[in-house]
Amino acid sequence: MNQTMIVIHRGTHEIGGSCVELCSGGSRIVIDCGMPLVNPDGSEFNMGKYKGLTGPELVAKKILPAVEGLYEWQEPSVAGLLISHAHQDHYGFLNHIHPDIPVYMGEGTKRLIEITTLFSPTKILLKNPKPFAWPGEFTVGKFRVVPHLVDHSSFGAFAFEIEAEGKRVFYSGDFREHGYLGKTMKIIRDKCAPCVDALLMEGTMFGREEEPDMTEQQLADAAKVICLECPKGILVYQSGQNVSRAVSFYKAARASGRELVLDFYTAHVLAELGRCAGGKSLPYPGNLPGIRVWYPHFLTERMKKQGRQDIIDRFGKTPFFLSRKKMPECLDKLLVFVRPAMDFDLKRIEGIEGSTLIYSLWSGYREKGATKKFLDTAKSLGITERYLHTGGHATLKTLRGLVHTLKPKALIPVHTFHPEEYATFNAPLQQLKDGEVYDF
Ligand SMILES: [Zn+2]
Repeated sequence: MNQTMIVIHRGTHEIGGSCVELCSGGSRIVIDCGMPLVNPDGSEFNMGKYKGLTGPELVAKKILPAVEGLYEWQEPSVAGLLISHAHQDHYGFLNHIHPDIPVYMGEGTKRLIEITTLFSPTKILLKNPKPFAWPGEFTVGKFRVVPHLVDHSSFGAFAFEIEAEGKRVFYSGDFREHGYLGKTMKIIRDKCAPCVDALLMEGTMFGREEEPDMTEQQLADAAKVICLECPKGILVYQSGQNVSRAVSFYKAARASGRELVLDFYTAHVLAELGRCAGGKSLPYPGNLPGIRVWYPHFLTERMKKQGRQDIIDRFGKTPFFLSRKKMPECLDKLLVFVRPAMDFDLKRIEGIEGSTLIYSLWSGYREKGATKKFLDTAKSLGITERYLHTGGHATLKTLRGLVHTLKPKALIPVHTFHPEEYATFNAPLQQLKDGEVYDF
């Protein structure tokens, strides 16, 4: 009898550190190799605490999941690794992967990982990347993999439909329906046959039901109102890699007669993704009108130190460049992207009091050291803070919709703190423990 096995190495009872292994006909693949977000006691995970430890030591401490034949110090026996999207809780342990193991990911994910390595202290070496085309399919060992584009707060995120020896598994990855690519759920409904043998589905929103779930378009409309109400500058703090959100604020800026002023990191992200499939209409200088670029002090210094004058010159030597000194002249016509560590710059923009700072991230980050300091500084400068955000994860209604579409023979919770809540989905529930083998 053919047997397929699933092992969720991490993620049956937590968000973050996703790692799933599939085995069929003697062939093994792994989906995601993320860094945890929390420790077993629920406190925030800090990789810095384990600096200097070898890979085997990290496995012994249960930081790296014990997947045989996946890591660089082992004999490679995993046919391939699939990365669903460019969030570190899904790819953060890539450096430990054996260089002979191909790593399949969307083109956007590859670019975002490269940009993170360029701009942040996190250095991820892509040793054997295999970007896949979409729409399409590919084979890894005995597995046929169909990537399904999904909407998420990371550009080019994918769910995977995986088939081997007559058994079909659907891995949702992180997804939502209330973004600009929400229609991809309809494509999945049309293209993906029901009655999958196993559905591994994220459930981030269980326990976060209070998080706003307006659509990105509704968020853009609300941002426009804030822009129109404010007599001074609009400052926006959002993730530089959340491309959909950048589109929303671009729409708000255009609709309220303001220019979008990207920091050069975000401008670089958008311009690079603009070269990927699906990136043609992203807001970056030269692609769409009404976009400028500014150069925050510390980020510019860091790039200089890294010897990357080319990155600075990319927009710095173009008509899109807007110096901090010029901002006071036209503050009421600007929507400027800012981030913690840019309080140095804010303090030096004359007449900034009376401006509005839109905080557009998960509210849970607000109490973090650098973010709190930044928000406090903004307040002390007479800047009013507004909260405007919508989640990057599927609402319970969307989750229910996917279960209804795929009609799984086994619904397996992953990437959730509340697996027991899946019982409400009216599907055969298979709750696993981390490391437990599920065969079918
Ligand atoms: Zn994610």
